[in-house]
Amino acid sequence: MENKKAIVIGGGVSGLSAAIGLKNRGFDVTVLEKNPRAGGVIATVSKDGFKAESGTNSVMIQSRKTLDFIDSLGLKDRIAYSKPVQKKRYFARYGKIRAVPTGPFAFLFTRLFTFCGKIRMLMEPWVEKEDPESDPSVSEFACHRLGRDGLDYALNPLMAGIYGGSTDKLSIRHAFPPFWNLVQKYGSIIGGAMKSMKEKKAAGNIFKPMVISFKDGMGELISTMEERLKGDIKYNAKIISIDMAENGWNVEWGNKIEDSADIYDALVIAVPSTELNTLPLPGTLSAMLAPLKRIEYAPVATYTLGFRREDVGHKLDGFGVLIPEKENMHILGSLFQSTIFDNRAPEGCVTLTNYVGGMRSPKLARLGAEEQEKLIMEDLRKLLGVKGEPVFKQRFFWEHAIAQYNVGYQEFLDLMDNVEAEFPSLALVGSYRNGVGVSSCIENGLAAAAKISARV
Ligand SMILES: Cc1cc2nc3c(=O)[nH]c(=O)nc-3n(C[C@H](O)[C@H](O)[C@H](O)COP(=O)(O)OP(=O)(O)OC[C@H]3O[C@@H](n4cnc5c(N)ncnc54)[C@H](O)[C@@H]3O)c2cc1C
Repeated sequence: MENKKAIVIGGGVSGLSAAIGLKNRGFDVTVLEKNPRAGGVIATVSKDGFKAESGTNSVMIQSRKTLDFIDSLGLKDRIAYSKPVQKKRYFARYGKIRAVPTGPFAFLFTRLFTFCGKIRMLMEPWVEKEDPESDPSVSEFACHRLGRDGLDYALNPLMAGIYGGSTDKLSIRHAFPPFWNLVQKYGSIIGGAMKSMKEKKAAGNIFKPMVISFKDGMGELISTMEERLKGDIKYNAKIISIDMAENGWNVEWGNKIEDSADIYDALVIAVPSTELNTLPLPGTLSAMLAPLKRIEYAPVATYTLGFRREDVGHKLDGFGVLIPEKENMHILGSLFQSTIFDNRAPEGCVTLTNYVGGMRSPKLARLGAEEQEKLIMEDLRKLLGVKGEPVFKQRFFWEHAIAQYNVGYQEFLDLMDNVEAEFPSLALVGSYRNGVGVSSCIENGLAAAAKISARV
């Protein structure tokens, strides 16, 4: 019997994961990627002993699933584990960087929060629980539970770090479900976190989250996935038509090397939601997907700068620093790349990966390199005591960097479920659905492969 055939449109980490999942289930897979390279927003540039990530700095592993997948790619020995010092995180306040407190003693003495702010935060367990049917913004939720200081100096920088997002727009239940779920289950973030930890310990169910990358950077994950799909990925592919066939999908595409028109049992669409309306989809499907255009994306520029160690005053003893909006700086944050992982800078040098723009200041993301560098350097001199000029520079710009899970996002989730119910041989995957992090993209891609293979 012939293998079933699947076509995956989009070769970012979501599409590649779905393709590998389908291949592992015995499908003949074709991946159509419009660019000459796969990986989407993930890539690593190595130059003069420095490594710069195009954006995605690392993978936060929170369950065995992603780790098992990485193992299955043969990458176990290529994992770069983050150094223990990265557990220390910094946020800025009063123009200075302050360690984020990790215990009760540190919380009492931190200058990250005011005295009144701390008292307000400690009252959180007694604050009324949110209506489970409601969909508050991160700002509403944080102000209600933690007070203004908790919003401005905890949730605001955190959301800048994950989404480059606006706390007034992001939905807490969708953008940061851990806090929402703790409140819904236990009535409080603080009390809930302690109870949930106790329960997990009692059940022997503790997976220690870890932050990883790969020895050659995040690009190594992509090149290994490409290798696994060797011959199956069609680069520079232009899709001419996608039509419904009797038992699947009739897809016509071409690139400089080949043209093809074939019937596929399964179709996986793995492009960002902003690209859906550019695909030549059948009219009914296109109309159903049209509202997804309203999902916003934050524009972000990633500017990695390398310095001689002696030119940076700060110890760089942590993961990096995130900047609350109230601080009126230019960057969203700066990651201490060469502290987190080995081999990110040559001997005697350090790298700082700086993020600019987001929903907070989209115009800054779109500035030219020279202007942007000036603003970044202004912040770095103030925050980290940078004295000299950079000896390495690498910039990337993403107009549609990170999908925003804003208030009302449930409408889009329901729509995607309805579309897949209507078209059982179709799956929609991508960072605009069920998590923007790399591990979510991998797990969602694999889950889509399992679901669709059971249906066709
Ligand atoms: C600046 C930045 C920093 C980040 N940092 C982290 C981090 O540290 N940790 C983390 O876990 N996550 C991070 N993320 C998020 C994570 O990297 C992304 O959510 C994830 O990589 C998105 O993968 P994707 O496959 O869904 O989409 P994309 O990477 O956007 O891939 C989509 C692919 O589809 C292709 N495509 C588009 N249109 C077509 C078409 N018409 N035909 C064919 N192909 C098409 C594109 O060329 C692209 O290759 C970051 C993201 C950014 C932008």
